[in-house]
Amino acid sequence: MPANKKVFVLPGDGIGPEVVGEVRRIIDWMDKRRHVSFDLSEGLVGGSAIDAHGTPLKDETLADAMAADAVLFGSVGGPKWEKIPFEIQPERGLLRLRKEMDLFANLRPAMVFDALADASSLKKELVAGLNIMILRELTGGVYFGEPRGIETLPDGRRRGINTQVYTTDEVQRVARVGFELAQKRDNRLMSVEKANVMESGLMWREEVTKIGAEEYPDVALNHMYADNCAMQLVRAPKQFDVIVTDNLFGDILSDCAAMLTGSLGMLPSASLGAEDPTTGTRKALYEPVHGSAPDIAGQGKANPLAQILSFAMLLRYSFDMGEDADMVEKAVDNVLNAGFRTGDIMTPGGKLVSTEQMGSALLAEMDKLAA
Ligand code: NAD
Repeated sequence: MPANKKVFVLPGDGIGPEVVGEVRRIIDWMDKRRHVSFDLSEGLVGGSAIDAHGTPLKDETLADAMAADAVLFGSVGGPKWEKIPFEIQPERGLLRLRKEMDLFANLRPAMVFDALADASSLKKELVAGLNIMILRELTGGVYFGEPRGIETLPDGRRRGINTQVYTTDEVQRVARVGFELAQKRDNRLMSVEKANVMESGLMWREEVTKIGAEEYPDVALNHMYADNCAMQLVRAPKQFDVIVTDNLFGDILSDCAAMLTGSLGMLPSASLGAEDPTTGTRKALYEPVHGSAPDIAGQGKANPLAQILSFAMLLRYSFDMGEDADMVEKAVDNVLNAGFRTGDIMTPGGKLVSTEQMGSALLAEMDKLAA
């Protein structure tokens, strides 16, 4: 098979290079065992780029990311770079990538592997087998709307202002991603806003309803107010399939859903851009939800599974390799069932392993699944 799948790897700082290293082993395995080759290249981002070039993201690195079919991102940041000016801090590299690639759709699955169901703060029966997807609009809404700022009124009081603003095209494009995700899953989409108190929410609801009726009549669409959704997520999370919501509500609801799974080291994410009208492909960046974990960096303690599950998302969403993505996810399930645990997900009776040993256990499961 020709190596035409261009993946640009940005390991970043702290545990980033360690967990990305385990994905590299899976990529080698896929090359040998499945005859799937990737055209891999690597760049510097975050603190490591600051050390080498004085900036968290060079223009050339951004150009490489723009030219790739998919970007696999590790994590950035750490105490070493905390005191430098805000505009060149490590996180600015990631924010610039998201902005320039116009990654407007942020996908955060919340999956509970049976072997880890006890790690949730909710009762096991409420979360065992949970598999929901939160789709957050990432480039619009109140975090970007104008006017914004802090002003001083004539009487001396200060006023802080942010504006929730969406245009129809912004709502329509994220809604379409939501409907298409639902079609690949259980065909159910829950659109979440506050149409009862916000005009922007009312417009959101009307647009999503229209797109659903005109373009995706097969998908079961429902609507929920964001406050109710927060309650439902902790009351009965399994009622959802895909949730689509705006930037602010998505920020909060995706963190709430993440905690249902109980472990930061297990959470992948994807951010997608607009569909190219000629090729049908989207710019895309895949990264774990966790940060660079400076407290455990360089010690072989990091859990590589969030990064590996982000790679499974890359296979599924950028290369339509659903079967291979299923295999990686199944291998993760199997290593957990076999009792392998990094420190962050340790359970009584578990086998404590290093980052590399977890990678090896996963590859052994992949061998069995491919046999
Ligand atoms: P963090 O996610 O790095 O770590 C929080 C806690 O979880 C730490 O105790 C850490 O050891 C643990 N942890 C995280 N990932 C783990 C893994 N894979 N395996 C085992 N344990 C894991 O968050 P933080 O401590 O708030 O931030 C540390 C640095 O990371 C900061 O510089 C922050 O700005 C940055 N950060 C970057 C990103 C990103 O690159 N997208 C996201 C969040 C934080």
